[in-house]
Amino acid sequence: MTYIHDTIVKLQKTSPAQAEFYQAVEEVLDSLQPILETNEKYKLHSIIERMVEPERQIMFRVPWVDDQGKVQVNKGYRIEFNSALGPYKGGLRFHPSVNAGIIKFLGFEQIFKNALTGLPIGGGKGGANFDPKGKSDGEIMRFCQSFINELYRHIGPTTDVPAGDIGVGAREIGYMFGQYKRLTGNYDGVFTGKSLLWGGSLVRKEATGYGCVYFAQYMLADKGDSLAGKQCLVSGAGNVAIYTIEKLYELGARPVTCSDSSGTLYHEAGIDLATLKELKEVRKARLSEYLVAHPDARFIPVTDYPADGHAVWRIPAQLAFPCATQNELTEADAQALVANGVIAVSEGANMPSTQDAVEVFLDARICYGPGKAANAGGVATSQLEMAQNASMQRWSFEEVDEKLKVIMKNIYLSASTTAAEFGEPHNLVLGANIAGFRKVADAMIEQGVV
Ligand code: NAP
Repeated sequence: MTYIHDTIVKLQKTSPAQAEFYQAVEEVLDSLQPILETNEKYKLHSIIERMVEPERQIMFRVPWVDDQGKVQVNKGYRIEFNSALGPYKGGLRFHPSVNAGIIKFLGFEQIFKNALTGLPIGGGKGGANFDPKGKSDGEIMRFCQSFINELYRHIGPTTDVPAGDIGVGAREIGYMFGQYKRLTGNYDGVFTGKSLLWGGSLVRKEATGYGCVYFAQYMLADKGDSLAGKQCLVSGAGNVAIYTIEKLYELGARPVTCSDSSGTLYHEAGIDLATLKELKEVRKARLSEYLVAHPDARFIPVTDYPADGHAVWRIPAQLAFPCATQNELTEADAQALVANGVIAVSEGANMPSTQDAVEVFLDARICYGPGKAANAGGVATSQLEMAQNASMQRWSFEEVDEKLKVIMKNIYLSASTTAAEFGEPHNLVLGANIAGFRKVADAMIEQGVV
């Protein structure tokens, strides 16, 4: 369709060298074809041209002093992508790979994900090319404070509400909130993912992982199947991976892998969650140290990965949960998963499967839950945190978890009924993209040319 093609070509000219962003845009726009073909209004209102252009992009210098007294400089970003449905909402990522293209891909995905939750939140994302690994607590604090010295003027509880993402957890949110409070004098719900001691919500920490497992549960239930007794592959060993593993055990499945940037851990007896939490949440250690407590497990270093993919996806299992980072599951990995009999893939990470890998899953007609649907539990629970802050309430763990289950079920139903409406009932990529797009696009039209 030339409308879509022309938009992407123009984007490549006006926003050069942003490969991940084009990948995300192409994936969304391709699946919007059926709705764009039958609804002239979207073209008339230049909706997709407006959607691919962020409302506002903030890029700034983040200078800070390391423990040796040397001044370091990083690049900070906040991309306020779309506020048609509510205040900008989306995490902050601190990782050396961060650049404008990565933040734009994440922000673009966030628009549709947030729309799918059915909650009043717009889409945004931010971060810095700062590497928290190996930094002292003092260095992390000084970096976070400097980051907020610029960002504080752009965020607020009714305008833009950041949360965590890779490299940003409760500790970093604490330092950023402290500096925001000092600069503005406001004690308000400007961040989510806060500590439970001062405004955080129960279940927020667990929400993305739990939600991703609930999503798999709903996909399987539609096929008359369940998680019970299934062997599962999980990638990543951070926030999303850990709570995916926790919920898989609770629902009777057996997660046998996890990974970090140094390699993959395979424990046939099942990953020992207590050891994993101690390593990653408490000691922030490398995954290979797991073998000290569990010599029967196997560690596969990155240097031994297959040339065309990732070791974790070559292990036989029935379910797969990519929970680390973008493009961590290649076409060859997808073929290996399907050949080994995987029946469902539920994405905890954002865009972990390449576009070719997604095609393999769709062609094989296995259950495939794309990240923007399957991992929306995190941002949905962030919105529940905002609601608790605004109403000065505190809900119990069970109450929030129950709401999370309902939200994930509604996301699944919204994606699957929309997929069926457009004649491709197995295609939750198409269903999720169209369902999210329709809400945002119609709101944009109603709000005029702004
Ligand atoms: P995290 O706690 O920082 O953990 C990230 C994990 O992925 C770590 O084990 C990390 O290993 C690994 N990883 C990161 N970059 C990698 C790379 N380039 N190659 C190999 N491994 C890599 O982050 P998280 O919050 O779990 O986020 C994981 C994914 O979920 C991301 O795609 C994020 O955007 C998405 N997500 C998160 C949330 C949330 O609520 N946190 C919500 C929705 C989506 P190392 O420690 O060795 O780097």
